[in-house]
Amino acid sequence: MARRHALTVCLAAALVAGCGGGGDGLNVPHAASAEAQGPAARYAALQALDARVATVFHRLVTANVDLCGAPGRSSGWSLHAANQYGAEMRPVVAATGDLKGDLPAVLAVVPGGPAARAGLEVGDVILSVDGTALSIGAIDAAESWDGVARNLAAMDAALADDGPAMLEISRGGAVRTVRLTADPACPHSVQLDVSDELNARANGTGVFISTALAGFAANDDELALILAHELAHNILKHRERFDREAPARRVFGNLAVAPSSLAAAERDADRWGLYLMARAGFDVDVAAPFWRRFGAANWRVRWAQWGHPSAEVRARQLEAVSAEIADARARTGRIDPR
Ligand SMILES: [Zn+2]
Repeated sequence: MARRHALTVCLAAALVAGCGGGGDGLNVPHAASAEAQGPAARYAALQALDARVATVFHRLVTANVDLCGAPGRSSGWSLHAANQYGAEMRPVVAATGDLKGDLPAVLAVVPGGPAARAGLEVGDVILSVDGTALSIGAIDAAESWDGVARNLAAMDAALADDGPAMLEISRGGAVRTVRLTADPACPHSVQLDVSDELNARANGTGVFISTALAGFAANDDELALILAHELAHNILKHRERFDREAPARRVFGNLAVAPSSLAAAERDADRWGLYLMARAGFDVDVAAPFWRRFGAANWRVRWAQWGHPSAEVRARQLEAVSAEIADARARTGRIDPR
């Protein structure tokens, strides 16, 4: 699961926090103090948050692969490259390993996941996959994601096979080879966007969460709640449905979609999201308290808006789903939203 760090562009299919509009000034406490300490502290906070997001998402996509239709793979890592950063952050990032140009490097490793099992470590730089060299691109180029994206696409193709991929990596100046076998998973990726807005969104293939919202999640169960809701939008193909029902959505966003259709999609994503969480071993009882706390902190989710129920209505619906899951678990031992 590759991801980049860039400002969020809000072109949401459906959001937790609603699309557009300014943030409400609610910042991540860590990030706020890190901001005062400069780029190195900011990078460390970002890296820690990215590791949490990657770990929680890996659990969700591997535990629910049977619900996802076409299977994909998850390598249990987060990758980045020097060229995706601006001038201020790039020297900080370059000091964390042998990072150069567009070459992907390991930003975070999911404990116990495929990358960890392969022996990969934070800072390792990937030079080639199955004998095909990745492109270093232009060193000292302006901030850009394009070259990195091409490398990641080549790696995804190699890792999509059943068998292991052979990765040539650079660690501390020495070149070595590792054998990586990715886990079967939902074919969806996750990306942490640097933004002060409390936003998460799904675009059909990817799940995106802002640093502010990821930081607002008090623990991994709450983080799983947000990511699972967005993952559910993708599994249930809501974006495709909205595009079919309301072609004007491409121009006007979700305002072109009937509120009743949006509301139904939100309810389904909330319900499926809780099932996805439960199947991955997360505590679904955090859902209702989270939504009440989120509503109290953020006026944009406190009241109902265009197809999105109020935080309190969501909390009550989620309590009912939690009870439904507990009942199914007790009666049949099976947890299945279908
Ligand atoms: Zn939603």
